[in-house]
Amino acid sequence: MRLIRLPSEMSLWSQQARAAGQTIGLVPTMGCFHEGHLSLMRRAATLADMVVVSLFVNPIQFGPEEDYSRYPRDFERDAAMAAAEKIDILFAPQPEEMFAPDNLTRIEVSGLTDVLCGKSRPGHFTGVATVVAKLFNLTMPQIAVFGEKDFQQLAVLKRMVQDLDFQLKIIGHPIVREADGLAMSSRNRYLSREERRSALSLHQAIQLSRSAVREGITDVDQLLDLVTARLQQDARITTDYIAIVDQYDLTPKKRIDPNALLAMAVKIGTTRLIDNALLLV
Ligand code: AMP
Repeated sequence: MRLIRLPSEMSLWSQQARAAGQTIGLVPTMGCFHEGHLSLMRRAATLADMVVVSLFVNPIQFGPEEDYSRYPRDFERDAAMAAAEKIDILFAPQPEEMFAPDNLTRIEVSGLTDVLCGKSRPGHFTGVATVVAKLFNLTMPQIAVFGEKDFQQLAVLKRMVQDLDFQLKIIGHPIVREADGLAMSSRNRYLSREERRSALSLHQAIQLSRSAVREGITDVDQLLDLVTARLQQDARITTDYIAIVDQYDLTPKKRIDPNALLAMAVKIGTTRLIDNALLLV
């Protein structure tokens, strides 16, 4: 594995790899690696000759009140974990190298970014789309792998790729969970022992609603009530949203079908957690 710090060096490497006929798979991350990140890297290695993992805590996707400065960073650990995987390049640029002080350009994917997480995190997906477009330009991938945990990000980026004619395919990868069901997240390390126990409610709410669907409940409001009641049982949980939406266009579902996705965002203490699952499985 080679570490690249400079965007210009990244770009040169990608051009040479493409000229040599290699296919490139990109896995964008913000570091603080866990099994979720590693499974994305392994997936990319099955799909492309060369794997580039970017490690960049992107300042422009955090709101002023969000956790940019305290977002967990552990470069040495991440570099060692990445080196143990079959990846070729770890691209870890400095913020000032990615965003010159006089940068003016943003990519806005309208509509899809106003709902769900976009509602409580204004500007977040514009920051994500902009940095990912830059990463696509610098790494020239034919495929890029993203986690289904961030299902809205996946929908937004697929749309960006379609609308702006990026010549690559976005691959969604299933959520990797802890043995007890908690979706892995870099932010889980913020949780106290009690908060972590509360965080399990998200997965339990998924299981509850899935078994309700299996038992024949197809009324969306009834399912939403069930999930709301489950999350309200725990005083540590503040709900941001609970929604059942189409996994592709993110519009609210009226009836349960194979694309019906239960999506939740909550705050436990000061930590924001998200989780989601298709209901008909
Ligand atoms: P992050 O470093 O949190 O920005 O995540 C980098 C990539 O890993 C994104 O595509 C996430 O969706 C994905 N990811 C994060 N957590 C998980 C997980 N538990 N399972 C699968 N993918 C994940």
